[in-house]
Amino acid sequence: MMGIAPYGYINRCTEDGRKYVAVKEPEATNMIWAFRQVAKGHLPTAVILKEMNRREGRKLTKNSFMDGLRNIAYCGKLFLKAYNDEEEKIVEGKHEALISEELFMKVQRVLHRKSNKDDFLPAGRIINEERYPLRGLLLCPKCNKTLTASSAKGRSKHYYYYHCTTSCGFRHNSEIVNDLFVEELSKFRFSIGAEKILKTILEQNFSIVSNGLNDERKVLQNKLDAIEGRIDKARDMYLEDKLDEEDFKRIKMKYKAEIEDITYKLNSLKNSGDTTDVEKKMTQALNAIVNISERYNNASTIDKRAIVGLIYPEKLTFDGEYFQTTKINSLAGDITLINKELGNKKTDKEVKKLQMSVL
Ligand SMILES: [Zn+2]
Repeated sequence: MMGIAPYGYINRCTEDGRKYVAVKEPEATNMIWAFRQVAKGHLPTAVILKEMNRREGRKLTKNSFMDGLRNIAYCGKLFLKAYNDEEEKIVEGKHEALISEELFMKVQRVLHRKSNKDDFLPAGRIINEERYPLRGLLLCPKCNKTLTASSAKGRSKHYYYYHCTTSCGFRHNSEIVNDLFVEELSKFRFSIGAEKILKTILEQNFSIVSNGLNDERKVLQNKLDAIEGRIDKARDMYLEDKLDEEDFKRIKMKYKAEIEDITYKLNSLKNSGDTTDVEKKMTQALNAIVNISERYNNASTIDKRAIVGLIYPEKLTFDGEYFQTTKINSLAGDITLINKELGNKKTDKEVKKLQMSVL
């Protein structure tokens, strides 16, 4: 690598004066993270850059970030320009690769796709659901109708909106609204300590549910025992010739469906009440909600809408700046409460009290 080393690398010199390129942290880790995010193909590169610039280390401009994503040096290779009668070519570099060639190529494909991502219809209309993950989920602040989305072609570029379907005229740039919404979701990001409290809540909830399951299991098992007792009795009578074969068969048939039904229920209870990997599932569940805004960011449009639906059971009113809703999911509500309270630096005792109040 000649000249200035790319972001994530640094020019160094050995004691005997030989120049070489070394990996520079934390920028190298940032760039690896960025490549992986871009490869997923769900997020605009601008959003990924913004997020990356929030991390430790040197910040990048949009242009140098885009150049970086196209720089083959990150997968350990060098691009040599045509020189004299040598054609341009790609060679193995002497520096350490940060990412695999496969990841690099994947990012190139995503970048290429993004650059012509819109399907244009006659009259400049665009159909692209990826631009409008919140279509149909927002309410108009003026007339309470559901907002829809569309684009308009300006002199030189397209404009994208969420807008009202009535003549009230409410509309808002959809890219801004999408960004604001991600910010709104980041309210559900945990502050330190909240995770512990949430785990306690989950554990308590689980033990309530699993105790309920145990009770139900007992009831079903008793029923099953009773039925089998009756069949045993009938069999005894049949063997003692007090019951003819026809009647014994009829009795068995009568209970057959009931036994099948109870056995099915018992089996499904056994499966759901299996406590062996509860710990693992709990951790998974926690991971899923610890960083809901990041999850949302990386999700497909369909999954995005599912996440919104999980947190907000009702539509949101977007007033041009904020999202208002009468209801949020109770767990999401707990997270907001816990974060708010923890923000005021509580003592252990107070945290415990808080823990009880959200249970
Ligand atoms: Zn309206």
